[in-house]
Amino acid sequence: MRIGIFGGTFNPPHLGHITAAREAFALLGLDRLLLIPAGLPPHKELPAGSPTATQRLEMTRLAAEATELGEQVQVLDMELHREGRSFTSDTLEALSAQYPGDELWLLMGTDMFMSLQTWHEPGKILSLANIAAFGRTAGDGETQFSAQREALMEVYPQASICTLRIPSVVEVSSTELREKLVKGQGANLLAPAVYGYILREGLYHTGADMKRLPLEQLRPVALSYLKHKRIPHVLGTEQEAVRLAERYGADVEKARVAALLHDCTKKLSMEEQLALCTKYDIQLDDLEQKALKLLHSKTGAAIARDVFGVDDDIYSAIWYHTTGHANMTKLEKIIYLADYIEPSRDFPGVDELRNVCYEDLDKGLLKGLEMTIEEMTAMGNPVHRATIEARDALKG
Ligand code: ATP
Repeated sequence: MRIGIFGGTFNPPHLGHITAAREAFALLGLDRLLLIPAGLPPHKELPAGSPTATQRLEMTRLAAEATELGEQVQVLDMELHREGRSFTSDTLEALSAQYPGDELWLLMGTDMFMSLQTWHEPGKILSLANIAAFGRTAGDGETQFSAQREALMEVYPQASICTLRIPSVVEVSSTELREKLVKGQGANLLAPAVYGYILREGLYHTGADMKRLPLEQLRPVALSYLKHKRIPHVLGTEQEAVRLAERYGADVEKARVAALLHDCTKKLSMEEQLALCTKYDIQLDDLEQKALKLLHSKTGAAIARDVFGVDDDIYSAIWYHTTGHANMTKLEKIIYLADYIEPSRDFPGVDELRNVCYEDLDKGLLKGLEMTIEEMTAMGNPVHRATIEARDALKG
């Protein structure tokens, strides 16, 4: 197996890192990529007021998901747990023991490559891993790299050094980005979920008020709560909810906010969901106590209200988006259906359901509820009583 190792302070991880990681992965034909945030970086001091190790780890996890390398990319916290300075030679020693017989590739940008001979135990590094160096700007090139490669090879003739050109290099550094973030800029240089995480944790003096977020901040914050693969679904639900709200004269902004936040607790485990139910005093019936899918709508509504200060209309639209209930409000119907028919949904009958939804909201809702009941029954799953009551109320 060819394993790439990409370390850094990741304070914060930006599109330069994500692009370099993704493209180096392809160019080197790697099977796995390990992103390793440094605990105490040997090359640079963490500026005062920097995020905690846990926050840098979480940002790196979100950035890793944004590489879209799926299971092939992993974030390791090994350096964050190690005492003292984070030396790459120690990390490589541990990884070569963990992956005996595999090929290790240490990835680095221009600045790191040009100073490699000054690192702690460079000989050990070069004996344990192949080096893949790439430019951080379109201007960094072979002239500079070849001289350094030759100088290193002279001292360490056994070294294996390859230099790459990252085709879509993004010219940014974390230092520059931190300065931009203080001034309310820089969102375009971050994966949306990383930017959202920075806002919600109030990192780098962004100081956003979670209860009064403008849309261009609410959206990335909402995305930061999700697994990467769920992002198209939530953005699709936003789009569909806005369309339905316009079609039926509902409050477009409320529809948008409810749609963006409707799945904000979806990625939590059963244990985490239950802890939130206790925190927010959410009462659960027998079925809800066992069904994770039924819990996220309730805990999501609670977070939407507590963290983002949404009003009762939005709260209840999120609360009922999975089961529905008898006599739903217009906004509740819109969120229930937007979640069901948004553009990335692709199940048999979805187009017909979409047509009915835009002909008549209640007819669409009835059809959606009936399809759910049918599907759950066919799978042998119990149907929540609120869903049956919603259907019966519409039929009655
Ligand atoms: P700083 O501003 O503190 O120098 P940084 O942007 O260099 O931060 P690090 O986390 O220190 O970020 O970098 C980790 C690794 O990513 C290093 O090997 C660095 O050379 C590389 N790197 C950083 N920015 C880019 C970029 N824009 N393109 C390609 N590689 C990059």
